[in-house]
Amino acid sequence: MNNYKHVILVGIDGAGNFYRNTTAPMIRRTMAEGAGTDMCLTSIPSDSAQCWGSMLMGVSCRIHGLHNDKISSAKAPCATDEHPTVFRMIRDAMPEATLGSFSNWNPINYGMIENGIGVTKQTGDDESLCDRICEYVKNEKPTFLFIQFDSVDGAGHCHGYGSEQHLDQLNICDAYAERIYNACVEAGISEDTLFMITADHGGFERGHGTDTDEEKWVFAAIMGKTVNHTTLQYMQVKDFPAIITHALGVPDHPAWSSHLPEGLFSE
Ligand SMILES: [Zn+2]
Repeated sequence: MNNYKHVILVGIDGAGNFYRNTTAPMIRRTMAEGAGTDMCLTSIPSDSAQCWGSMLMGVSCRIHGLHNDKISSAKAPCATDEHPTVFRMIRDAMPEATLGSFSNWNPINYGMIENGIGVTKQTGDDESLCDRICEYVKNEKPTFLFIQFDSVDGAGHCHGYGSEQHLDQLNICDAYAERIYNACVEAGISEDTLFMITADHGGFERGHGTDTDEEKWVFAAIMGKTVNHTTLQYMQVKDFPAIITHALGVPDHPAWSSHLPEGLFSE
């Protein structure tokens, strides 16, 4: 069923579920007006390529096989016919779809997401990226837009996950998410948009990659006209592709182990 014309996924690298320790008004609003959970399990090892890979490819990292060195040094995107990204699934079903990936950590763009399928790929620091994302939303009204902000993870590595600096940066990215949502409202598409905010992993002390609770559990906040007002008991980051394809009425890939979280949608 095609319930939405637009899906926007805002990913905040290294945010875990640390929003609980700060104000994060947009994350809290998204959860309150839609569905939310602090129990979204990421891929383990809890490193970026493993986790973003699962979020965009609908399988565990043992299956997609991506890791940071692999996608950073890749001469071409690592997605394959056997393990495509959700972008490819949308493109195959919707030739006219407008697709965008705005990722601070550029290996997601050049080392993961397919070339030649009409995905607008941009990179830059979080603030300049946010400016361009808002313009893109207003001008292009994307069918699916993926965003990766990186500054929260940087603050975690530098100052510690859960530190004042890490939490302050999380609030800055929360404000970026709010600006992006407001751009949807300004563009007149918010009614037909599934809007989601999440993280790839958290962190413990000044790193991540293992399976402590602080690293492996992330938040997910999801709002849209058919989203139940509820707390989701459990989901995984690899479930996002199933959510995205369901929202747009696009088939899943047969190799995916990506599932709709129980109770997320009313239809
Ligand atoms: Zn990361």
